[in-house]
Parts: sequence; structure tokens; C-alpha cells
Amino acid sequence: MSELLRREIKYLTGVGEARARLLEREVGVRTIEDILMRFPYRYIDRSRIFRINELDETMESTYVQLRCRVVGRSYVGDGAKKRFVVEVSDASGQAELLWFHGVKWIEKRVELNREYIIFGRPSIFKGRVSMVHPEIEPVEVVLSRKVESSFQGIYSTTEKLSQMISVKMMHTLVYNAWQLIASDTTAFQDPLPEDMRRRLGLITLREAIYNIHFPQSAERLRQAQYRLKFDELLGVQLTIQARRTSRQQRGGGFVFPRVGVAFNTFYRDKLPFALTKAQQRVIKEIRADMISGKQMNRLLQGDVGSGKTMVAFMSMLLAVDNGFQACIMAPTEILARQHYASMCRFAEGLDVRVGIITGSSKAKERRAVLEATASGEVNILVGTHALLEDRVQFANLGYVVIDEQHRFGVEQRAKLWTKNQQPPHILVMTATPIPRTLAMTLYGDLEVSVIDELPPGRQPIRTYHYFDSMRLRMFGFLRQEIAKGRQVYVVYPLIKESEKMDYKDLHDGFESMSRDFPLPQYRIAVCHGKMKPEDKDAAMAQFKSHQADILIATSVIEVGVDVPNATVMVIESAERFGLSQLHQLRGRVGRGGEQSYCILMSGDKLSKDGRARLEAMCATNDGFQLSELDLKLRGAGDIHGTQQSGDAFSLNIANLATDTQIMEVTREEALRILATDATLQRPENMLLRALRDKHRKRETIDFSDIS
Ligand code: ADP
Ligand code: MG
Repeated sequence: MSELLRREIKYLTGVGEARARLLEREVGVRTIEDILMRFPYRYIDRSRIFRINELDETMESTYVQLRCRVVGRSYVGDGAKKRFVVEVSDASGQAELLWFHGVKWIEKRVELNREYIIFGRPSIFKGRVSMVHPEIEPVEVVLSRKVESSFQGIYSTTEKLSQMISVKMMHTLVYNAWQLIASDTTAFQDPLPEDMRRRLGLITLREAIYNIHFPQSAERLRQAQYRLKFDELLGVQLTIQARRTSRQQRGGGFVFPRVGVAFNTFYRDKLPFALTKAQQRVIKEIRADMISGKQMNRLLQGDVGSGKTMVAFMSMLLAVDNGFQACIMAPTEILARQHYASMCRFAEGLDVRVGIITGSSKAKERRAVLEATASGEVNILVGTHALLEDRVQFANLGYVVIDEQHRFGVEQRAKLWTKNQQPPHILVMTATPIPRTLAMTLYGDLEVSVIDELPPGRQPIRTYHYFDSMRLRMFGFLRQEIAKGRQVYVVYPLIKESEKMDYKDLHDGFESMSRDFPLPQYRIAVCHGKMKPEDKDAAMAQFKSHQADILIATSVIEVGVDVPNATVMVIESAERFGLSQLHQLRGRVGRGGEQSYCILMSGDKLSKDGRARLEAMCATNDGFQLSELDLKLRGAGDIHGTQQSGDAFSLNIANLATDTQIMEVTREEALRILATDATLQRPENMLLRALRDKHRKRETIDFSDIS
């Protein structure tokens, strides 16, 4: 590999020690290669100049260029609030530029009546356009500069980094890096043979790297993106397809031939309702896997409230009837306890023992359950991620169910897998469906089952979006519903980074609630992540048994909680939630026979995406439609957070959700390559091997094995 690519970034013209430290700390850039492998996330057409009156609210987060004359400059405010304000105008209107720091430097460079090119992100308030810390350069300077490309790449940055390295400077650094290696033929050698490139119409890797940073035309940019995505996805496919083959060769899954006493008794005498057709079908699909001799790897997708728990329970009985243990892992304590309660109820009168392990199990209780699990007395073990701990040992684990899989990381699931000599059958249940191609990529050769039907008698939930200014109407509505004997959830966002603040939000909310709904009249329970598990349980129990009319909670209640008498879900600051989370929360109501409602409260000012999410929620109850939209709005990486797609492969430019066409092509190419050289040992495949290993974060885990 090229020595120059490995050179430390601090030796690059324009960087130096301080910037190098910051680049490494903030965005992980340490070498010349690192900086060249960070691609722009968008491009600005630098030949385009906007008029001030063309700017509107929808452009607030985008970079634009203006050509303006300076018509005024002054200091405003004093002390810490002191800022430098420059008034500028073009033929269409006026705008205001603001600097809060670096003021001395900028002050010297801005002259009255001179014309400048201004580059930055506008904000618009009451029709006034302003920009904070824009780049500003005299028109003649900009015009006389030779530019590498009229598309300027914008690189992701951080608060700290952007203070030391501007958009333009980042661009210059990347250019310097490119110049450094431009004549080094050992840099970015092409891993794809020429005949393959020609056959597929791909440009070379070097052309791609150059054009991704400095597109020579829109078409060149498209080709560059295609080529770079192709390489990443080929690397992914080379990994997956090789694993898949080895897995198929290994084969071997437990066989559960018997449908025995537990299953039959439950089915005949205990089933509290008739199964839906979809539930029946899925149970049959699982049963077929369990007698196939192959280890089951199945993803069960079913919308919120579609009755996945019953499917889990009945399929666990199949394992139990064949002398095996089963376990179910839930993402939260509340949900694990709820599963435990329902499973104990279901198992009453059957010869099936159910146990529970969570982080807050008492020592004595825990010891008893651990012993009974190790000896095989516990047939079904319910738990949180505490199930993963090494001290949880099974006598004979044959079947693992993972509920709401997107909450678990790949590695955690890998751990469950190792709880037995021979891998157990695995069922992963999710209410957030993912497209099949994405699923295939993440899990290799998994099977997919779908519950596409809700239990009968459910009325669709009505969803409304209220701005904060309509709060009184919302309260009025809650009063009506409570008067009818119904119960209400009020949920506040809880985002990890700012738990303190959210906690405060919840408390303020609670106080204003108590003012508007004077206690004795309404009974309010509170439940949030900071509470002790016992207190959480107590609050939930209070609500469940209708000793409280209102449950004020953070999103800890997001998944699984089941209180059929609750008919209203109020979601505060709904714009701060993702679509799948909103849909999950909404799924807490509409579980009984009564008409249910979801009220999305939001601030008056919404981003484009925020608005799109709330509109989508009001428009449909269909989780599949919503998750498709979510994919479009956010891309696959985000949908599963860093917990899933991000865990398995670290991708730079390709998107597992949307680049399905490229994925198809690369899958075929990967199979073709592996057919003659399965382990990529041949010298001519050396660069392909590097490509394969590049995006794989961990060598040791076989991802197709674990779900
Ligand atoms: P989810 O798929 O979201 O996990 P649950 O398993 O919690 O859904 O089921 C939601 C509710 O529907 C529960 O109260 C459950 O008892 C009930 N339920 C499940 N299946 C049926 C059915 N076939 N008929 C009627 N009610 C059902
Ligand atoms: Mg569930």
C-alpha cells in the first residue's frame, strides 16, 4: 500500500499539530487516507448565487451563496452578548450577518460598500434573513480563483471542529491530500479487474475518489458514487456469501418432532381467544422449521398489537414438549415483567415452569432461578439482557425468542447463541419491519414470517397533531375520555444525551398536569427511567389496575406495555421522536374494543422531516408503510441505530436500505468470484480480500449465525 496514504495528517499542508489532534479526536481522521476516505455528504453548486428574496424557511439548514454589498456594520449588545452585525443587500432585499466570536478578524475584512460573496446557512425569522458566522470574501477574489470543481463538497463536522476548520478549509485540506498522492500510482490501486469494470461500466477507483471530492460534472459524480458504493457492497457480499456457504455446510439444528401435552392442552383448553389466520400460519411456519433438521433463523415481523407474544409462547411450548428449554429476551424490565406475567398466566394448569431473570432480581430469587434453569426445572425463562450473563446456564436450551430485536446489538445476540453446544433455534420478533434485501444483508439466509392481520374487533386509532398553542383543547379532550372511564398515557421524550433535561420536562409536565387536573379528581401515576425498578413496577401496576387515570411516562413504556382500557396516547414534543418510536407508542392504545386516540403535541416550529413524520402518523396506522417512509427519511443506518446495521458493517457511502439494485449486482459478482476462490487466497484477489475485510468490524462473529 502507498506510503503516502499512511502518512499522518499533521504533515499535510495546512494542518499542523493542533488541527491534527482535533481531526483525530472529533472525526477519527489520522492519515492522508482517512481524510480522502471521508466523502462529502452533500454538494453545493458554487456557480449558483441566490437572491435574498429567494430564501425561505425550507432552506434553513442548507448552505447557500449570496452576492451582496455591505451597507452597514456595527456592534450590538455588550459583554458576553456582544456581537458584530453586518447589514448587506442585493437587488432583491436585505440580510443580516452575525459574528459572536472571531470578531476582530472579521471586522478588518468587511468594508462598507464593497461587494462580497457570502456563503452560509440562512435563518429566517419574521421575514428577516440572517446568517451566523458565514464565510465572506470579496467578489473579485472569488472570481479570480481557479476552482477544481463547481460542486463544493460538504463534509460532516462537529461543533468543535467547525470552529477550527471551516467548510472551505476542509475542502482545501482534502484537495491538498489529493495533490499529495495524485502522482503516486500505488495509492488507491483498483481492486476490480479491468474486464469486470468494463463489463459493468464502472469507472476506476482513482477516478471515483477524485470525482467524489471534486466532481467534474453531475454525471461524473453519479459514476463516482456508484463505483464507491459498489466496492463497499461487494465487500459486504463477499463476507456474507462466504459465511452462508459455510453455514449451509455445517447444517444441524435440533429436531422437535412431537406436538405434545403442553401445546395440545393449551391449544384445546386454555387459549383465551381464537388465533388469527396470520398467527396460525406463522406457528405452522415455525413448526416446519423445527422439524426440518436445520437450525431455524427466523424474523417475525408483525405490527404493534398483532399478537406476537402468543406466537412466541405457543412455539416455546413446542420446544418444551420435546424436552428442551426456551427463553425469551425483552429489551426492557417492564416488558420482561409483563411477558413473565402473561406467560405464567398462560402456563397455569400446564406442567410448565416459567422463570424470570432481570437486572433487578433479588439475590436469593435469582440464585433459585439460576439453579432451576441450570438443572432444567425451569422450562421457559423470561428476561432482559441479564439473560446474557455468563452465570445464566441452561441444561438444554433449544429455542430462543428475541422480542423487539432492534433494541439489541448483534454482539449481545451472539452471546445468547453460545449458551448451548449446538445452536438453538432462533426467532426474532419485531414491530419495525425492514425490507427483505436489508434483512438478507444483515442476517444472511434468514427466513421471514409476517403477521399481516390484527385481532378482530380493533378499531383503527385516530391520530391528531396539535401545536402547543392548542394545549387547552387537548386537556379538554382528556377530561371527556376520563369521564367515560378511560385511561390516558402522556409521554415525554427521553433521549440519552440529555436525560437530565428530559427528566425536567417530565416533571414540569407533571406539575402543569396536576394544575389542570386537580388531584383528588384525577389520579396520576408517574414512570420514568430514573426510578427504581420496584417503583416503576408499582406505577405500572397502579395504572394497569385502574388506580390511576393518567400515566405520565418517558418512552420507557414504548414497547409492549398492554393496558386495554387506555384509549388516549398523548405524545409531548412528538417531533423529537422517530417514526417507528411514534408508531410503537401509539400501539399502546387501541388494544381494547373502544375507539382510541393518539395526540401528537409539537412546538410551532417544525423541520421538514419533523413535519413529514407527524403528517405520516396522522395519515396511516400501517406500520409497514411507516417504516418504509422512515427508511426514506433516515436511511438504514439510522433505522437500526448503530445497534444493527452499524454493528455488522461500517459503511461509508452505501445504504443497505436504498441501494438494493447495486446490492443485487454485487451479490452475483461475489458468488462468481467465490466460486473459483472461496477464501480469496489467490494473488490476483489480494485487493478483493482487503475490500472484504475493510468494512467488517469484527472477525470473530459470524453474523448470519445469530438471528
Ligand atoms: P405485539 O405483537 O405488539 O407484541 P401482543 O402480543 O402484546 O402484540 O398482543 C396485543 C394484544 O392482543 C394482547 O392483549 C393480546 O392478548 C391480544 N391478542 C393477541 N392475539 C389475539 C387474538 N388472536 N385475538 C384477540 N386478541 C389477541
Ligand atoms: Mg410485543
